Amino acid sequence: MDNLFADRMNNVHKSFIREILKVTEDPEIISFAGGLPNPKSFPVEEIEKAVSKVLARNGDEILQYSTTEGYLPLREYIAERYSKKGLSVDADEILITNGSQQAIDLVSKVFLNKGDKILVENPTYLAAIQSFGLFEPEFKSVPLLEDGVDINAFQRILDENEIKLFYSVTNFQNPTGITYSKEKRQKLAEILKDENTVFVEDNPYGEIRFMGEDIPPVKSYLDTTVLFGSFSKIVSPGMRLGWIVANEEIMEKIIIAKQASDLHSNYFTQRVVYQYLIDNNVDEHIEKIKKMYRGQRNLMVSIIEEYFPEDVKYTKPEGGMFLWVTLPEGLSSMDLFDLAIKENVAFVPGKAFFTDGSGYNTLRLNFSNSDEEKIEEGIKRLGNAIYELMENK
Ligand code: PMP
Repeated sequence: MDNLFADRMNNVHKSFIREILKVTEDPEIISFAGGLPNPKSFPVEEIEKAVSKVLARNGDEILQYSTTEGYLPLREYIAERYSKKGLSVDADEILITNGSQQAIDLVSKVFLNKGDKILVENPTYLAAIQSFGLFEPEFKSVPLLEDGVDINAFQRILDENEIKLFYSVTNFQNPTGITYSKEKRQKLAEILKDENTVFVEDNPYGEIRFMGEDIPPVKSYLDTTVLFGSFSKIVSPGMRLGWIVANEEIMEKIIIAKQASDLHSNYFTQRVVYQYLIDNNVDEHIEKIKKMYRGQRNLMVSIIEEYFPEDVKYTKPEGGMFLWVTLPEGLSSMDLFDLAIKENVAFVPGKAFFTDGSGYNTLRLNFSNSDEEKIEEGIKRLGNAIYELMENK
């Protein structure tokens, strides 16, 4: 097959996490590596009812092709949910996607030529690196601090480069769990309003805030922002439903890209999820998820506090599914991975989330997909592995 594959395939590698997940299929291993919601949170019975209802009432229609933009009542529902939270959005500004992962692909198609510069957080969401990478851009990265990106560095990068897109996960970021402060969001909007750069705000975790106060999205300060949302973390990831919010000028192009990609997102699941949303108290359901994740996060933090060496740093996220660990300088999380696997515990070494090759001493831990017993036992084992790594140094 020499010389048959497109050049774009040269730069993009198989997802590192998928490779790691193969190792963790062994049931003996306690894995904090995946990024899965807790299946106990899935509304199985309610979805069963919604499926029966839409099939019985509208079977002929819902099995048919549909519009590229997505089912209008579902888009209206999303728009109304935003407006209740203070963001005024019209249903015409929303397009339903095959998860927010497809939103990344569509926005790339619409904006990126080969060699264009795209700015990402350092570290950033791994599958975004992979998705953007297929369009052969030049990656620039900006350090992520506790309350969002380093604004001085951000400004300097924009001054020195023509950046087309800035991709950011503003709430409970994957992989770090970090959330942008209100001040930082406003500052970013202020800077970007005079720049020829599109802010791409990926927000799949925003509804899973289990502590602290909600903060408005950057979209509410900067109209040209392209905002992504998803039902994956609040209803079901397997249904593959997300959405893009964008102004008319951008949306026109996104619709063309979406038509060419897949005509439209799965109409059946759009109708099922819509039926589920209107027949149930979704806020109550989300409260249950938050309660579950808050407990798991608190437990993970408290066991880390007790069993990790003192000079290991970690984030204490107020929502989402991940926390981020930084080992003392000189220690490698890849070496730790080998020791941890011997203790039957797994995580994702952080290096893969950096586009500049740094992050060798960092790692991501998922807390949403492990029950309390596993968190307690797994974090203790990981603590042992870290002590062992330090002793071997
Ligand atoms: N963006 C981020 C930051 C994510 O963490 C994920 C899921 N892991 C996605 C997008 C994709 O989510 P989905 O396609 O299921 O909406």
